[in-house]
Amino acid sequence: MGAPDSRETLGLRTLEDISALILQSHDLQETLDNIVTLVAKRMASDVCSIYLLDEDGETLRLHATRGLARPSLGITMKTSEGLTGLAIEQRGVVNTDNAPLHPRYKYFRETREEKFLSFLGVPFFERETPIGVMVIQTREARTFTPAEISAMSTIAWQISSIVASAKLLDSIRKKEQERAFYEAEVERLKGIEPAPKERPRRVANRQGVFTGLAIAPGFAAGKVSVLSRGLAREVVLERVRPRAEEQKHFAMALEKARIQTIYLEKKMGEMLSAEDAAIFHSHLMILEDRGFVAKITDLIDQDFGAVRAVTEVVGKYVSAFSKMEDPYLRERSADMEDIGRRLVDALNGNHHTLQKLRDKRVVIAEELLPSDLATIDHDKVIGIATEKGNHNSHAAIMARALGIPAVFGVESLLKQVSAKSEVILDGTSGFVYVNPDERVRQEYQRLQGEFNQKQRVLEGIRELPAETTDGERVSLLANIGLLSDIRVALQNGAEGVGLYRTEFPFMTRSAFPGRQEQAEIYKKVLQGFSGLPVTIRTLDIGGDKALPYFPQPKEDNPFMGWRSIRVSLEREEIFREQLAGVLLASPYGKCNIMFPLVSGVDEVRSIKTILQEVRDELVREGRQVSDEIGVGIMVELPAAVFCAEFLAKEVDYFSIGTNDLIQYTLACDRNNQRVKRWYDPYHPAVLRSIRRVADAARDAGKPVTLCGEMAADPVNALLLMGLGIRSFSLSAPAIPAVKEAIRRVSMEEAKKIAGRVLRMESGQAIRKYLEGVNAEIAARG
Ligand code: PEP
Ligand code: MG
Repeated sequence: MGAPDSRETLGLRTLEDISALILQSHDLQETLDNIVTLVAKRMASDVCSIYLLDEDGETLRLHATRGLARPSLGITMKTSEGLTGLAIEQRGVVNTDNAPLHPRYKYFRETREEKFLSFLGVPFFERETPIGVMVIQTREARTFTPAEISAMSTIAWQISSIVASAKLLDSIRKKEQERAFYEAEVERLKGIEPAPKERPRRVANRQGVFTGLAIAPGFAAGKVSVLSRGLAREVVLERVRPRAEEQKHFAMALEKARIQTIYLEKKMGEMLSAEDAAIFHSHLMILEDRGFVAKITDLIDQDFGAVRAVTEVVGKYVSAFSKMEDPYLRERSADMEDIGRRLVDALNGNHHTLQKLRDKRVVIAEELLPSDLATIDHDKVIGIATEKGNHNSHAAIMARALGIPAVFGVESLLKQVSAKSEVILDGTSGFVYVNPDERVRQEYQRLQGEFNQKQRVLEGIRELPAETTDGERVSLLANIGLLSDIRVALQNGAEGVGLYRTEFPFMTRSAFPGRQEQAEIYKKVLQGFSGLPVTIRTLDIGGDKALPYFPQPKEDNPFMGWRSIRVSLEREEIFREQLAGVLLASPYGKCNIMFPLVSGVDEVRSIKTILQEVRDELVREGRQVSDEIGVGIMVELPAAVFCAEFLAKEVDYFSIGTNDLIQYTLACDRNNQRVKRWYDPYHPAVLRSIRRVADAARDAGKPVTLCGEMAADPVNALLLMGLGIRSFSLSAPAIPAVKEAIRRVSMEEAKKIAGRVLRMESGQAIRKYLEGVNAEIAARG
């Protein structure tokens, strides 16, 4: 037997390989089987087994093993029994070099495990609930080192995210299975009736203005191109061939859809970045999911035609996803639809792409799916308006990354336009004018002219510093999420990144990315900014941000609940993996690390201890880590505002997150339209909080940045400068206008504005006063 791998190769290589395995495997069982084989080999152990907890929470069942006798698969034990049960009971690692002598040892005859002396059991969790144990055993008495145990914990954590996402898919399947069965029966009893012929749509060429969600900023005016298609869930009539032929036809289409998906991933990767393309990876996983494929082939076995079988199954998934409470998961129904369409097109021999556009057009569609945007003719598409989709949809993220103005969620839009329509689309305010009259056209032409003129002025100042007339410098950094934001940030003259929201790379994957995979992404960001500072914020999930493979607990007040740093501190294995990813990337640029939603010094001290441990571990492994990483926190809770003096001693810098600070100061959900008028950045309590934090940072000699949305409004930036802020991080397209405003005023003026505002008692009065300031500064030309 070979010597076990070093910690480095064991931990990193194994994690990388596990990620690859997840992609190659077709279902949970195959993944687990592959993992036990891989881990046993890498650990040079005689046995590696994975036990999962049944739904009753007290029965452990052997799901996969390498090394135990075959009949032992499926054996069960109570959590009160044996060493494996002990790992669950004590929610921690069980490590012994002589298992049979351990008081909790229990021998299961089926396993013939009496010959194994050493035992290492590592439990894994879905949130805080244990869901299984990974066990390795060896014949000889072997003491597992802390490094090996740590590597095993990381692998166990990876497994927990696979199991969690498999459970999610499974619950969807189960819920739909029953209904599918009854529906199929009813269909069969009815006989398959021809679907009513679709009446030709009345050609509309109306006039009107419609509102939707402002998805990607900018104007577009011109002729439309209406994207019409049969979506996957529509009932399709087809001639059904003999079963075997239909199965073969489906198998070929599946392969074709897989190849297309790989192609789309590549294309998107070239157009934007590998990050943006990652969603096609998740499409690929679904196309390769055995359960998904089996549902279709089962229907074909019941004499469904392949097209109909695909439409049925995809329709079930789409409806299951669209009923989900979580807004992110709800939007995944569009991905399912995209997959379905690709399959149906492959079956029908269609090659779906957006119509080739001869000239520039505004694309109108019921919904734009990710593959539409991957195949879109970018030079010709000047704008996008759709009936469905929201800020979270992948199409929205991509439209923003591609810089195409877009309005989504316009009700009944397709009924209002025909191929002859012309539209004006305003992606900044969310308006779509269909066949606008001359007056509207002229008004928009004027606006567009002003917009262009302004753009030219702003482009002219891109290279100039953000400096007041009396020579005070202000830093303007960008908030970014996707790799494609790097280009946008640099184009707009960002001096670095004040907030890199790492949720995005986590969201576009189907399981937690490992440290190496994360390091690669962070490295690209650091390199992209070539030495400019980049502040990487650790995972900020919970509240309104979810990961499809990491179910959130049901909470009455999620924003007050288990979110952000609280999740990181309780799921330390995920946190450590991310910290390691950041540290490994740190030599490739000027890297800072930042922690969200911190409430007090105890948290900061725990964070720093963990960070130091991860650093020490990497250094021991001989990895290179930068010595100049700034460690900062976000101040976004009133608690942090009032402890700012204490917190300032613990960290290198602050970043005020006003999006959350406003909601927590004013007890006002930032996403709840009903309480929108209470969500007031000008509330004196908010402005005084900012002032307080700026003062505490100044007294401690620590820099402070403000990274909330409010900084994107130029007049706000002036006010905030007066309150003591000298660095802003904002959405990159807003940088030039803020810079222009800064270059028109003196710091003295900014301080006067802030002085006046601080004496005002109400948000309304402040708003009114600032409107006047804004007009006055704009008039300076
Ligand atoms: C904030 O809360 O202001 C912030 C920048 O963080 P996020 O919007 O990601 O919560
Ligand atoms: Mg926040």
